[in-house]
Amino acid sequence: MFPSSLRRALFALSACMFLAAGAAQAEAPVQRLPNIVILATGGTIAGTGATSTTTVGYTAATVGVDNLIKAVPELAHVAHVRGEQVFQIASENMSNDNWLVLAKRVNALLARGDVDGIVITHGTDTLEETAYFLDLTVKSRKPVVVVGAMRPSTAMSADGPINLYNATLVAGSADAIGKGVLVTMNDQIQAAREVTKTNTSTLDTFKATELGMLGYIQGNKAYFYRQSTRKNTADTEFDVSQFDTLPQVDIVYGYANMGPLALDAFVAAGAKGIIHAGVGDGSLATRVVPSLKAARAKGTVIVRASRVGQGIVARNGEANDDQLDFVVADTLNAQKARILLMLALTKTSDTKEIQRMFYTY
Ligand code: ASP
Repeated sequence: MFPSSLRRALFALSACMFLAAGAAQAEAPVQRLPNIVILATGGTIAGTGATSTTTVGYTAATVGVDNLIKAVPELAHVAHVRGEQVFQIASENMSNDNWLVLAKRVNALLARGDVDGIVITHGTDTLEETAYFLDLTVKSRKPVVVVGAMRPSTAMSADGPINLYNATLVAGSADAIGKGVLVTMNDQIQAAREVTKTNTSTLDTFKATELGMLGYIQGNKAYFYRQSTRKNTADTEFDVSQFDTLPQVDIVYGYANMGPLALDAFVAAGAKGIIHAGVGDGSLATRVVPSLKAARAKGTVIVRASRVGQGIVARNGEANDDQLDFVVADTLNAQKARILLMLALTKTSDTKEIQRMFYTY
């Protein structure tokens, strides 16, 4: 038996704990819906076709952002959304200038206290490029999600509405903070750096084939299982507020019987950088090497990428990069290597520094 003074003290303590628990319950924060801005740029997600079975040969970029949002009233369950029409284009027409406008707008919005995340609706053809450009230039850890659709809005089983809903859900998810720019399509969450379009027309086209997706969207929730190890967003050295144009960087594609014609033309037209999407491990055809050397001697930066689509391009593997003063693209595909080289050239033309960036981002 406890002495009565101790019993009184224990009772007082448990009463205090009960009251404190009650107070905590009364003060439990009301779950606030995140504020998400949907920036629309066009694409098939905003496309319309002649009939419900028109899934090719439709017109991209015809539906405005307000109607995209109106078509998914369920968005109101997961976020306070508002839309802005930034462009209204098919993404094959996306340009460097468009990217600069978009990145500056995203940065301005994310700097505000009343914006928790951004969704960007986009055509799927260059979606991975815009996502990677933003991955390198957004100065915030708040979620940025790029989304598109493979079927136009008028199609039977259009994927746009569910994709937009999922993207908004992810953009408002605390788990998406600090994960870099994300791409959500087909109930999957992908990293901007690693995802690519793998099929011309199927719904499951966006894949990071070997490095893998980050997670899923299921039952109104985002589930993350991994994240890219490469630096992104707030941790990059690139600052789009410092420039209004990007240096000219072009891509030459490797194939049997390749000659130097395209390469020479790009260099003559003023290319500051060339991505050589070589065969295999970024191999160089003997008949192209003199033009590559001449371009380098003129100051053009040469990056060896691969047309294969997976794997590391080995430095000093298929070419002596140290001797040629070339850079290797690591695992970046040619179109993403072009983006990193353009941004790298806004900082430096030193190839050792540029190689460091290719191993960092
Ligand atoms: N050509 C279209 C675009 O990229 C394709 C799509 O959105 O799926 O805008």
